[in-house]
Amino acid sequence: RLQGARRREVQFGPDTPTRIVAITSGKGGVGKSTITANLGAALAAKGLKVGIVDADVFGFSIPALLGVSDEKPTRVGELMLPPIGFGVKVISIGMFLPGPATAVSWRGPMLHRTIKQFLSEVYFDELDVLLLDLPPGTGDVAISIGQLLPHAEVVVVTTPQTAAADVAERSGIVARKTGQRVIGVVENMAGLPQPDGTVLDLFGTGGGADAAARLDVPLLMSIPLSLALREGGDAGDPVVLSHPDDPAARAILALADVL
Ligand code: ADP
Repeated sequence: RLQGARRREVQFGPDTPTRIVAITSGKGGVGKSTITANLGAALAAKGLKVGIVDADVFGFSIPALLGVSDEKPTRVGELMLPPIGFGVKVISIGMFLPGPATAVSWRGPMLHRTIKQFLSEVYFDELDVLLLDLPPGTGDVAISIGQLLPHAEVVVVTTPQTAAADVAERSGIVARKTGQRVIGVVENMAGLPQPDGTVLDLFGTGGGADAAARLDVPLLMSIPLSLALREGGDAGDPVVLSHPDDPAARAILALADVL
């Protein structure tokens, strides 16, 4: 099918049958990329055709999370074939940088061009779901995605800390301003199960429900803190596949079902 395939101005235009879900957060470090990578692997394991565009300029980590950090897209004519990790087609801004610090200094137009290139030149073939890992906060990339993929749905990730709900709400509001539909909030780093059966609420409680209420969308899932999830991330081996019984893995697998 690649034969004869041509670059298009933008793949996944308004008439696309592909579901497009952008994952965003108010700030970094809340687990947005970890959830995106595991969600992608979970959806692929269910038999769906899945792609991830990693547009997190400052924290691009999807390739490492899906074990393809050393791979680059293959050029075929005017198109690029994306690396595949755990069944997920992955393209990352990190695959195009000469050095680790480059993207940080990119300005809006350069970022916009790169995202546009992902959407026009990367040969994803047919996809059921395209996940986008957006940079945290309210930046140029969110605005570009809003312009290029106005029909994308947005999921906001937050921690249970009530202060985090403020910034989460703001990122949801910006998504709406760019015309996208916020479909829900995912709370991550919720209570850590203890050996004695109790739960340690390291980051407090209520942030996810709070952000969801303020944005008037459902709280889609609450994902607990998990050693296995973190270790799987570091190893490039998604916990949803390696330890599907881990509580965090179960929560992400359930999220894949409700999405
Ligand atoms: P973001 O994309 O929001 O910047 P990351 O996905 O990079 O955040 O996660 C930040 C760090 O937190 C990573 O080291 C990741 O392994 C860890 N992490 C994310 N979610 C959890 C969780 N539920 N339990 C334990 N560690 C987590």
